[in-house]
Amino acid sequence: MKSQASPSISSGIDALSHIESEIISCMLCPLANTRKNAVPGEGPIDAQIMLIGEGPGHHENEQGLPFVGASGKLLTELLASIGLKRSDVYITNVIKCRAPGNRDPQPNEIEACGQYLDRQIKLINPSVIVTLGRFSMARWFPGKRISDIHGKPKTAGTRIVVPMFHPAAALHQPKYRPLLVEDFKKLPELVSQSKLRGAGSGSSSMPSSGQLNLF
Ligand code: URA
Repeated sequence: MKSQASPSISSGIDALSHIESEIISCMLCPLANTRKNAVPGEGPIDAQIMLIGEGPGHHENEQGLPFVGASGKLLTELLASIGLKRSDVYITNVIKCRAPGNRDPQPNEIEACGQYLDRQIKLINPSVIVTLGRFSMARWFPGKRISDIHGKPKTAGTRIVVPMFHPAAALHQPKYRPLLVEDFKKLPELVSQSKLRGAGSGSSSMPSSGQLNLF
């Protein structure tokens, strides 16, 4: 028999679909004029882990889905290495539309898209956020260098946030690959820790912000 989503899950799914449809028709910044498809994100409403990349590339712009090109293939492998499927996690980006020529996202584009990311995080309420690359890292770790802090989690409000290299970095420079593999291995423990601390779905209060000494 097919299981039915609880009322709170199904209203969450509706709210997430609403955000996604706003993103698909968004005209808040000039990237709307050059994109083929906006890429809201993908994954279950009750995901415990949310992965946040930089922005859609060529293949993502074609398909309207996050991380479906070469970086996505590596991301899928990294998830599989810790026993997770893509459908276990929510995957999104700092900016939801492709920047022409894959240039860096501009501050006005990050700002315009910020409200969508805020709303996605609030609704999905992941216990662990993984930032992939420096643009999503900058949201929680301003002024830090990824080579100094990758794999070092901190608490942010009710969640644990852990910065990691972008998979594309490991494709361009193989020395980053083992670092990403090691950082991904920390995720199951971080999810357990965050549950012990009461983070994620329907959580109450948590210590605000600070470095975690787990690793
Ligand atoms: N790189 C990203 O940062 N996001 C994607 O969705 C694909 C590649």
